[in-house]
Amino acid sequence: MRCPFCSFEDTKVIDSRLVAEGGQVRRRRECLSCSERFTTYEAAELLMPRIIKQNGSHEPFNEAKMRSGLMRALEKRPVSLEKIDAVASQIEHELQATGEREISSLVIGELVMNQLKLLDQVAYVRFASVYRDFKDLNEFRDEIDRLAKEPAEDGESTADDERSTDSVS
Ligand SMILES: [Zn+2]
Repeated sequence: MRCPFCSFEDTKVIDSRLVAEGGQVRRRRECLSCSERFTTYEAAELLMPRIIKQNGSHEPFNEAKMRSGLMRALEKRPVSLEKIDAVASQIEHELQATGEREISSLVIGELVMNQLKLLDQVAYVRFASVYRDFKDLNEFRDEIDRLAKEPAEDGESTADDERSTDSVS
């Protein structure tokens, strides 16, 4: 890169180390012309895709909005803020990992539902009932029945999980 002192176009790297817990590379550079030294930082740029809403309009991804959706579903549920944070980060990570520049709001809804399903079944049903806009009570009941038949997928979170296991051997 260009030297910030004399604008010469070539510099050499004299030191390179990981900083910010490995999230950045710090490089000491020396100008090949004026010998001045300076520092650069390099970090991965992870862009959140833009959201395509169902009416076709676009908007930037809104972390607060997603979080408030999660919080609403998890209201009064025995789930720690820590876990909610972890889930929010996980969803953002999955969005970034798609590598897409634009993504349907429906995809975000699905990601949130998948996470809630693992975290808290009541919250999942709350969210799904709003999000999927069940047409009638039967459709809603079917989903609950389907849930009840599904074995718990997540063995890790059973410690603070109040699900009844009466009917399960
Ligand atoms: Zn220079």
